[in-house]
Amino acid sequence: MNLHELTIVEAAKGLRDGSFSATNLVQACLDRIAARNETVNAFISVFAEEALAAAAKADEDLAAGNAKPLTGIPFGVKDAICTVGQRSTGAAKMLDAYVPSHDATVVAKLKDAGAILIGKQNCDAFGHGASNENSMYGPVKNPHDLGKVSGGSSGGSAAALADNQCLFSIAEDTGGSIRQPAAFCGVVGLRPSYGRNSRYGIMPMGSSLDTVGPMTKTVEDLALVQEIMAGHDANDMTTVPDAVQPLTSAMNKKVEGLTVGIPKEYMELEGLDDEVKQAITAQVEALQQQGCIIKEISLPHTTYAIATYYILVPSEDSSNLGRLDGIRYGSRKEGDSLFDVYAQTRRDGFPEEVKRRIMIGTYCLSAGYYDAYYKKAQRVRTKIMQDFTEAFSDVDVIIAPTSPFPAFGIGEKADDPIAMYLADAFVCPAAVAGMPAVSIPAGKTEAGLPIGLQIIAPRLAEEKLIQVASAIHS
Ligand code: GLN
Repeated sequence: MNLHELTIVEAAKGLRDGSFSATNLVQACLDRIAARNETVNAFISVFAEEALAAAAKADEDLAAGNAKPLTGIPFGVKDAICTVGQRSTGAAKMLDAYVPSHDATVVAKLKDAGAILIGKQNCDAFGHGASNENSMYGPVKNPHDLGKVSGGSSGGSAAALADNQCLFSIAEDTGGSIRQPAAFCGVVGLRPSYGRNSRYGIMPMGSSLDTVGPMTKTVEDLALVQEIMAGHDANDMTTVPDAVQPLTSAMNKKVEGLTVGIPKEYMELEGLDDEVKQAITAQVEALQQQGCIIKEISLPHTTYAIATYYILVPSEDSSNLGRLDGIRYGSRKEGDSLFDVYAQTRRDGFPEEVKRRIMIGTYCLSAGYYDAYYKKAQRVRTKIMQDFTEAFSDVDVIIAPTSPFPAFGIGEKADDPIAMYLADAFVCPAAVAGMPAVSIPAGKTEAGLPIGLQIIAPRLAEEKLIQVASAIHS
C-alpha cells in the first residue's frame, strides 16, 4: 500500500515499528499533492519545506522513543482557520496575503501532539457555501467524479482526504460545512457540540453556531483526533469546562439495547434521492440486527431550520465581516475617501455570495427589522432545540441522511442560491440546535458517488456518536 493511503492508526504503527520514516510519509503526501492539486484544487497553500523540517524532527523523536500520539502524521487545515506564520486566506482575495500571528487553539493542540501541518485547504470563502464554488481560488473537484462538486464549505478538506493527499483534515462547520462535504467525498466528518472545541483562531462566520472539527478516513482516526482537539480554552469563553470524554474507548462498544430515532421529516422529504434513502434504510436495518431498537420520531420544526439559519448566520456574519475593511486586515484598495477605500476593498475582496450574506444580515439587524427577523429567528431556534431535547428523552441517537442527494454537478446550482441553501436541509437543524453530529460513509450510488449517513447525539455526547458510528463503519 502507498504511504499516503494509510489511516492515522496504520501510519502511527508503521512509524513506530520502523517500517518507514515520518520524512517518507510526509514526502508521499507532498508528492500526491504535487501530482493532483492542479486537477482537484484542494490546497491553496502547501508548506513543503516546513513540513519536511518538522518530519526530520519527528524522526528524531521517534528514534529517541519520544513519540506523541500524532508524531509524524501529516494533516491539512481549512484556510478559514489561522495558522501561525502561514498564509491564511479564508479563500477570499481580501486576505490573500494575510499571515496570522497565532495558531488556532485546535491547531496548536494537534501540533503539540506531534502532527505535521502540510498545507491550507481550499473552501468557500469564509465558509459561505455548500459546493466550494464560492472560493476566489477556484472550485474544488470531487475526486470520485471530477465533474461534481466536493461539497462545501470545507470541500478542499474533504477532497484532499478522499484523494489521499493528507492523513486527516481540520475544518469548520457552522451549518453543515464539515458533514456535507464529508458525505459528498466519502470520508468521516464530525461537527462537535457547540462549545466542545475552541473557536479561537477560527475566522468567525455565525459565532453562535461556528464549530471546528476533524475529517478522517475512519471512525477510529476521528476519535483519536477529536480527543486531542476537545476541551476548555481560556481564549474562548464559550468552551465548556466539562471533562473531555475518552472517545477511543467508545469504539466498537456494543450497541445492543440503544434506541435509534429516525426522523420522519427527513425520510419523507420530497426530493430525497431514492438511492440515498435505500442506503440509509439498509444501515438502520443492520443496526437493528445488532440489537438496536429503531423508533420513528418527529422533529416538527425541521422545515424552519434553513430559514432560521439564513437569518441568524447572515446577521452574525455581517457583523463579523465588518472587521475586514482594508484598514485592520488584509489587502487595501486605494480610494478618494475613507468610504471609498472601504467600498473598493470590500467590492474586490469578497466573492458575490459573501456580499449577499452581508446584505441579508445588515437588513435583518437594522432598527426596523431586528424584532421581525433576528429576534423571531432566535425564538424559532429555541423551538428547534426543544424538538431535539424532546426526541432525546426517548432515543439515544438520531440517524438520517447527511444530504438529500449525492454530489451534484459543478455549476448545477451555482445560479440558484435557494436551491443551494436547501442542500443543507439535513445538516442545518443540528447546527441551529448546537448538537454534535457525525457523517460517515454509507455506500455509493450506482454511478459511484459516496452516500453519507448522519448520526446526531445529545449535547456533549460525542462518545455516543463514536459508539454508533463504529458499529456501521470501521
Ligand atoms: N452551506 C452553509 C452555508 O453556506 C454552511 C456553511 C458552514 O457550515 N460554514 O452557510
